[in-house]
Amino acid sequence: MSIKNQISQDVKLAYEGDKRLVVLGGGESGVGTALLGKAEGFDVFVSDKQKIKEKYKEVLIHNEIEWEEGGHSEDLVLSAHIVMKSPGIPEKVPLVKQIREKGIEVVSEIEFASRYTKATIVGITGSNGKTTTACLTHHILKQKLEVGLAGNIGDSFAKQVVEKDFPNYVLEISSFQLDDIKEFKPHIAVITNITPDHLDRYNYQFENYIASKFRIALNQTKEDYLIYDADDPVILDWLKNHPVQSKLLPFSLVKKIENGAYYNNNKITITIDNNQIDMSTRDLTLEGKHNIKNAMAASTVAQLLRIRKQTIRESLENFHGVEHRLEHVLKINKVQYINDSKATNVNATYYALESMEAPTVWIVGGEDKGNNYQELFPFINEKVKAIICLGVNNEKLLENFGSMVDVIIETQYMEEAVKIAYKLAEAGDNVLLSPACASFDLFENYEDRGRQFKNAVRNL
Ligand code: ADP
Repeated sequence: MSIKNQISQDVKLAYEGDKRLVVLGGGESGVGTALLGKAEGFDVFVSDKQKIKEKYKEVLIHNEIEWEEGGHSEDLVLSAHIVMKSPGIPEKVPLVKQIREKGIEVVSEIEFASRYTKATIVGITGSNGKTTTACLTHHILKQKLEVGLAGNIGDSFAKQVVEKDFPNYVLEISSFQLDDIKEFKPHIAVITNITPDHLDRYNYQFENYIASKFRIALNQTKEDYLIYDADDPVILDWLKNHPVQSKLLPFSLVKKIENGAYYNNNKITITIDNNQIDMSTRDLTLEGKHNIKNAMAASTVAQLLRIRKQTIRESLENFHGVEHRLEHVLKINKVQYINDSKATNVNATYYALESMEAPTVWIVGGEDKGNNYQELFPFINEKVKAIICLGVNNEKLLENFGSMVDVIIETQYMEEAVKIAYKLAEAGDNVLLSPACASFDLFENYEDRGRQFKNAVRNL
C-alpha cells in the first residue's frame, strides 16, 4: 500500500485538464521538476516506489504538490500527459512499460527543464570525468559570467530554472538523462571519454551505451560545438560512422590538433578559428594525465564563451579538485593518503595508478561490474608494492593480482584496511583508495566509502 499525501485523498484530481505532469521519483531531479512543472501551470503528481526523503517531502508539502511514496498508484500515474522519469528508474520496470504502451510522453529532467529556459547550455557527458570537468568549467566561467552548475551536482537544473534562471548553465549529464531527451540541445557539448559502464541498463550492448552518450549531439546544428577526446578510439570510431552536425573541437594528449586542443611539452595549446592560446600545465593544481584532458575540455569551452586567456590560466591554477577524486587527505609520517573513492570502474583507476609517482599501497575492491583488470597490470609491476582488497567477494582480485605483488591482504572493514596500509607504507610512499568497483556491497555509496576512508586516516 502506498502512502499518499493528504491532499491527493481529499481533493479531486484535476486530471481532466491537458497538463498533468507525473514525476516518477521524488529525489533531487524529481522534486525540482515538480516545482518547475507547478510554476508552469501543470497539475503535478510525484510518485515514488520508495520512501521520499523528509527534506523533499517538506518542499512538496510546502508547495502544495501532491505525492505518494512506497508504491505507485497506476490510475494516478497513467492519467499523465507527460511523465518525467528520474534517471535511476530503469526501463524494465513494469509501470514504465505501461506508460510507454499508453503512448504517454516520457522525458528526463534536463529535457523538461530546458524547455523553460533560453540559457546557453554547456552539456558534459562521458564515462569518467564528468563531475571534474563540469566543476572546472563552471569554476572558470563564473569568473566572468552568470552561470549555474547542475546535473548530478547540487541543486537540480529544473529547480534552478524556476528559482534563478541563469543565462548560462554547465550541466553534468549522465547517459540515463540523455535516454529521454527529445529537443534538448546544448550549444556546447563535451564527451570526456567512453568506456563500458552501466551496461546492465543497456541490454549488455556497449553500442547502445555509446549511442546514448552521443545523444548529447542529437539536436545540435552547425552553429553548435562538440568537444571530445580525440585519443579515445570508441569516440573516433563512432564519429566516423555516425557524423554529427556540430563543429568538432577535439582534444588530444598525443597528437597535434589544428582546430581544438592538444598537449605537448607541459603546455596546452588551444586553437579555435585561428585564435590560439597557450597554457603551461606546470602550475595546474590537478594531477594526472586525465586531468590534463579535463583541463583541455574545460578551457576549450571557456575560450568558446570568450573568457580571457589570463582568466582561464588563473582559474586552472586555483582549482583544487572535487571531493573523492584523487583527493589528497593527509600526509602522515611522510606517507601521502589519497582518496579516489569515486573510481568505480577500471578506467578511472587506470588514471589514478598512472598518476602515482611513488610506491603505492593500493586499496581496491567492492562490487565488481564485470571488470577486466588487464590494462592495470603494467602499473602493478611498476608502482604497487602491496594490495589491500576491500570487498565482500575478493576472489577475482586475488586471481588477477595474487601473483603480481608480494603482499595481498583481504579485509571487509575500512578502518582495518587503513590500519594495514599504515603498517605497510614507508616514508615516501602513497596509500591510494581507488576501488575500480561500485561501493554498494559494504558502503551506502561512494561518498560514504570515501568519508570512512578519510575518517580512518584522520584517526591513525
Ligand atoms: P564522473 O562524474 O564521470 O563519474 P568524476 O569527475 O566524478 O567523473 O571522476 C570519476 C573518477 O574518474 C575519479 O576517480 C577520477 O579521478 C577519474 N577521472 C576523472 N577524469 C577522468 C578522465 N578524463 N578519464 C578517466 N578518469 C577520470
